[in-house]
Amino acid sequence: MAQRWMLLGRFQTLGEAELLVAALAKEGIGADLRGRHAVAIEPEPVEVWVQERNAARANAVLVGTQEAVVEKESICPRCGEPSPASFERCWKCEAVLPR
Ligand SMILES: [Zn+2]
Repeated sequence: MAQRWMLLGRFQTLGEAELLVAALAKEGIGADLRGRHAVAIEPEPVEVWVQERNAARANAVLVGTQEAVVEKESICPRCGEPSPASFERCWKCEAVLPR
């Protein structure tokens, strides 16, 4: 029984693609990374492929991860300023941000 695969998305970094693959795996959706071997040599987009029967669910996961990235920020417990979630300390008052 041949499985049909479709391209879910292209990512500039392997990290972004792996984040999506991990999110898909959590939903029980198997994904295939393509093009990762080229990344080490030159920056080529990494492709995430899923089986066609999982396409609709996979797309929902993709949208969910993109929203999560956009909304990911830490609110400073001291001054209330939002900082990117990657920051360990508030950009404004340097209080340690909650994880
Ligand atoms: Zn602060």
